[in-house]
Amino acid sequence: MLMNAQAYRDSLRAYKPRVFINGEQVESVADDPRLLPGINGVGVTYDFAHDEAHKDLLTAVQTSSGRLVNRMLHINDGSDDLLKKLEAVRLVCKVSGCAQRYLSHDALNAIFQATKRTDEAHATQYHERFMRYLYEVQEKDLTLGVAMTDAKGDRSLRAGEQPIQDVYVHIKERRADGLVISGIKSIVTGAPYMHEFLVMPCRTHRPEDSDFAVCCALPIDAEGITIIAKPAGRPGEEAAKFSNKYGQSTGVVIFEDVFVPNDRVFLAGETEEGGFLTTSYATHHRHSCIGARAGFGDLLIGAGATMVKANGLDVDRHSHIRDAMVDLITITESFYACGVAASIYCEEDPAGNVMPDKVYSNIGKLLLATKIYDMHKLAHYVSGGLIVALPGPDEDHNPETKASLDAVFSGRADISSDKRRDIARFMEDLTVSDQAGWYSVISLHGGGSPEAMKREIWRNYDVENREDLVSQLMDRGVYDQGQRVSKQPGRCCAKGCESPTKIS
Ligand SMILES: Cc1cc2nc3c(=O)[nH]c(=O)nc-3n(C[C@H](O)[C@H](O)[C@H](O)COP(=O)(O)OP(=O)(O)OC[C@H]3O[C@@H](n4cnc5c(N)ncnc54)[C@H](O)[C@@H]3O)c2cc1C
Repeated sequence: MLMNAQAYRDSLRAYKPRVFINGEQVESVADDPRLLPGINGVGVTYDFAHDEAHKDLLTAVQTSSGRLVNRMLHINDGSDDLLKKLEAVRLVCKVSGCAQRYLSHDALNAIFQATKRTDEAHATQYHERFMRYLYEVQEKDLTLGVAMTDAKGDRSLRAGEQPIQDVYVHIKERRADGLVISGIKSIVTGAPYMHEFLVMPCRTHRPEDSDFAVCCALPIDAEGITIIAKPAGRPGEEAAKFSNKYGQSTGVVIFEDVFVPNDRVFLAGETEEGGFLTTSYATHHRHSCIGARAGFGDLLIGAGATMVKANGLDVDRHSHIRDAMVDLITITESFYACGVAASIYCEEDPAGNVMPDKVYSNIGKLLLATKIYDMHKLAHYVSGGLIVALPGPDEDHNPETKASLDAVFSGRADISSDKRRDIARFMEDLTVSDQAGWYSVISLHGGGSPEAMKREIWRNYDVENREDLVSQLMDRGVYDQGQRVSKQPGRCCAKGCESPTKIS
């Protein structure tokens, strides 16, 4: 059953998670206005699955069951699925800023692969268990939060060396019927308004730290879970033209002696496969991040072009403004193109699904992580200072000042000062406010910090192949092709080394 946004919001009422925001306990997640922009963002992925114009992108058939499911819960069969997922993520994020639910997709695909691999190496039965869980999630059309990034404590120490064990989520007790886990995951997107959490390791652990290699699923109101969350977006702020409607909450999630029944355990101590799970999740997720931030690029391009018009300028007549707009487009579409390439050059996993190409996924994510600051700069460049100088909305209705402000803030004759004010506030919201900072930091660190991408690019790029190429070109045989037979003194010729003729 595919829910719509309203049904998703209502479905949250069946859960009673322990959530705190700004020191207060939240009574009802579905009804708390501080979380509504986040719920609205996830809601887009539900509504678009019913929309004639978008349902081809937002739904997919799960081949193994023949059931129609939301794209955000689908296991990818081929490059077409990856392209559609990429486009779907861009679509929902250009409407909502960040629709958050693509993390569910990324984790499900990675666990699908890791459970198969673990079973083959250790004769466990995780994959079958996971498939039952997957079908349940798809059938109920749930949204799953990804609880991967541990608090990590002192970054120079490994998990087992930390003075406080809880900085990494770990298995505290193994029982016949399941596990007991404890510890803290420090950043979980949309934590309060998820249905379930997927707990996963955030790094490869050493065999002696096997208790930290744990993957499992838990409803967000499981006993022992506490979520300390931030409001989503800028709820209730009239000036926040975009983020009073759409935003993202993040939560610190504390697990205190939480019992996980066996049927929800997908990894319990297999460190090597835990490492594989972390990197395969990272690849799927970085590929999705490309779509998400391209959606944000669409918002900036649209807002930039509108602001330029409201200022009375014509892009075709002012080359410096056009250059800035073209730079913004080039950045957005160049990292998006990496996402397209990663979809097309995907690799088949032995588990039966496909992975986006690792090099292109990581390059795309690295580009967006570092270029996000340039994107903001370009948007500021074309907009002018009004985006920070504009008085707040209370002044819009002040009879003492309204007339003067209207006159001063009008731009082009056919665009009212109200409209120019609105687009300036929209731009401020996206590129100047604390939400703008949020978009920068999620781009930089979400899905892993730049160094993690650089390591993956270097690890997976076939440098040896390029070395072979050059060594072949440097071989004498190349010169045999008859095109470049060197006659320089002291250089090889087609026959091998030839002493230059001595001129006496
Ligand atoms: C808005 C937002 C949403 C997110 N959502 C989720 C989510 O839903 N689920 C989830 O699991 N995670 C989520 N993340 C977490 C994200 O994956 C992490 O932020 C990222 O992996 C970096 O980890 P960190 O924040 O702990 O930073 P750190 O690991 O502390 O990194 C800070 C800097 O130190 C460097 N560094 C760290 N350790 C070392 C070391 N040992 N040696 C050398 N250098 C080091 C890093 O390269 C980086 O430059 C989210 C992050 C953001 C910002």
